[in-house]
Amino acid sequence: MTQLLQERESRASLQKQICQTYSLPLVVVKANMHGEDKRSLIQTIVACEGYFELKKLNISHHHYTYTVEGLIFYLSIDLPIEQIKRICVDIEENHPLGRLMDIDVFNSHGQIFRRNLNLDPRQCFICNEVAHICVREQTHPILDIENFILETFKKHLQADDMQVRWQRMIQTALIGELIKPLGYGCVTLSDQGSHSDMDALLFIESAHTVSMEISKAFIFSKDFKQLREVGKIAEQKMFEMTNGINTHKGAIFLMLLVMAGLQHPDPVKHISGLCEDILSDFQVDDGSHGMHLHKQYGITGIRGLAKEGFEDLFTQGYPYFQLHPIDDTFLRLIRENPDTTLMYRGGQSLYNECREKAKRTENSVERIKFDRWMKIQGLSPGGSADMLSAILLIDLYSWIMEETNDEPTHKDRYRRYLGIE
Ligand SMILES: [Zn+2]
Repeated sequence: MTQLLQERESRASLQKQICQTYSLPLVVVKANMHGEDKRSLIQTIVACEGYFELKKLNISHHHYTYTVEGLIFYLSIDLPIEQIKRICVDIEENHPLGRLMDIDVFNSHGQIFRRNLNLDPRQCFICNEVAHICVREQTHPILDIENFILETFKKHLQADDMQVRWQRMIQTALIGELIKPLGYGCVTLSDQGSHSDMDALLFIESAHTVSMEISKAFIFSKDFKQLREVGKIAEQKMFEMTNGINTHKGAIFLMLLVMAGLQHPDPVKHISGLCEDILSDFQVDDGSHGMHLHKQYGITGIRGLAKEGFEDLFTQGYPYFQLHPIDDTFLRLIRENPDTTLMYRGGQSLYNECREKAKRTENSVERIKFDRWMKIQGLSPGGSADMLSAILLIDLYSWIMEETNDEPTHKDRYRRYLGIE
């Protein structure tokens, strides 16, 4: 039996168990896509967008899994089951990503189908025939299906309203970094890394909250003061949302500046101009990790990188990502990028040891060993994870702002967004 079939079976028993435990209708949200391994960026975002829609209802209990079946949400909702089913069908039919979603509704007696409510069966997204017939007959070439998926996702990001567009790109970038296969101590979709107080769902919720705030600043690309004001509000909303846990503080600062930079012909020059006086921050002790390290070792951290316009990010990090898998890109960031989160937690000597170890990660055995070592040491390269999000934002921006239809030729987008070689 393939891993996918095994996962499907254990999901069926999990669904049954949840229905019995809570005696409530259960909604299962996932991406509606083919493939033996569904752990890709697009499939993850599609599932999250479905979750954000359903969150508007009164969710009593939630659970998620991340396997070769991709990210799946299990939501117990205290409403009549027929009403829930109609809402789910409405999302599948009308949300910009709805046709890529699979939202199933169960109770302890089994699944409720569209036909139980006298609704028309689901249509195939390519030819509008009954969907399950096209699936069974394999009517459409895989390439047509993949093109449709990629194009639908692109259209969703390319919202007419620029603020919505930025919100979707930033949210995708922040959630997207969680798909890295190994976290080396950071939270990923499959594990909590070195953090007992946070998991992927907290990051997903936080990404939603902070992207809503950050996107408001797209009009302030030349105004550092305004950017910082928006950043402060975003930070406050983040802490309210997470009950005081720092999920995205560094990412907020970075995303605001990268968003500003991308709107100008030379992002590095623009950001470095905006941040000309940023090192004067160190004159006032704000009690942050960055300040502590500056006082102790004279390290300028993310502020120092900002003053240089995040040059490495734009000229090395992003081009590297275009040619390498996300795991390699993340390891490169850990090796090359001064990470004050890591330094603060580990101290200078452990930090140096960590970066040395990150150099000896040629194969998967070494990588798994490094991942384990980081977790045992309680280390977490949070600053590098933020940088990875920023790389994703640059990549999404270059794709979304192109007006030409580039789908048939962009093989590398398939790899990066759909996990297809
Ligand atoms: Zn069809």
